[in-house]
Amino acid sequence: KDGELNIEPLANHSVIRDLVVSVDSFFSKIKEITPYLTPKSEPVTGEFIASNESMENLLKSMNCIMCGVCVSDCTVLEVDKKFIGPAALAKAWRFVEDPRDDEKSQRISYLNDTEGGIWDCTRCMQCVEVCPKDVAPMDRIMEMRETAIRLGHKNSPGYRHSETFYRSVKKHGRLDETLLAISSAGWTNIPRLIDLIPIGFKALIRGKLPPIIPHKAEKKEAIKNIYVKVEKEDE
Ligand code: SF4
Ligand code: SF4
Repeated sequence: KDGELNIEPLANHSVIRDLVVSVDSFFSKIKEITPYLTPKSEPVTGEFIASNESMENLLKSMNCIMCGVCVSDCTVLEVDKKFIGPAALAKAWRFVEDPRDDEKSQRISYLNDTEGGIWDCTRCMQCVEVCPKDVAPMDRIMEMRETAIRLGHKNSPGYRHSETFYRSVKKHGRLDETLLAISSAGWTNIPRLIDLIPIGFKALIRGKLPPIIPHKAEKKEAIKNIYVKVEKEDE
């Protein structure tokens, strides 16, 4: 920038000295996702056979060189150290997709339910932009979200958030923020709903409380038509 080159240690890693960072946290996240195949039986012919297509698919993630740049630029890791992070989640995707693995469902359950799992990514795209090997960790995370939904994992705050966002904009042309907050927390999740009360008060005092009855967009029908068109294309 402006003819200057900034050289800094990787962010979201603890600095040992100067540009030297600890990779302990990076590899503890990799370890967390069980980074090896877990077949339930021995191969019949001496080795597991996987199709060329399935292996080509895995290359998206297998190209990762563990450089940690995506972790350094991840905006969620900056504020939430429990987030598994883009590199480890891209690695998790590789084992979810591998036809030789027998624990796809358990892997997805863990990544769906655990704090810091697939639903904590904010889709900021940073990891996609900086990755030198085109692993596109965010895309891998989104694919695992779709897999989780296909497998019936619909009771997570992340899923409820996405679903309510989708339906709200489809219905009103705008986001119903009150409904989004309550629905994401869960209508029967009393402790989480109680947690929302002080946040609501703060928003009220600052004049930022969203309306109870949601505003509707002037061109809400046009927005709805976009939904209908996209949903038809997906059929
Ligand atoms: S897209 Fe998700 S994983 Fe990637 S940098 Fe942003 S928050 Fe992190
Ligand atoms: S930036 Fe790309 S290559 Fe580097 S660790 Fe992340 S996913 Fe792997």
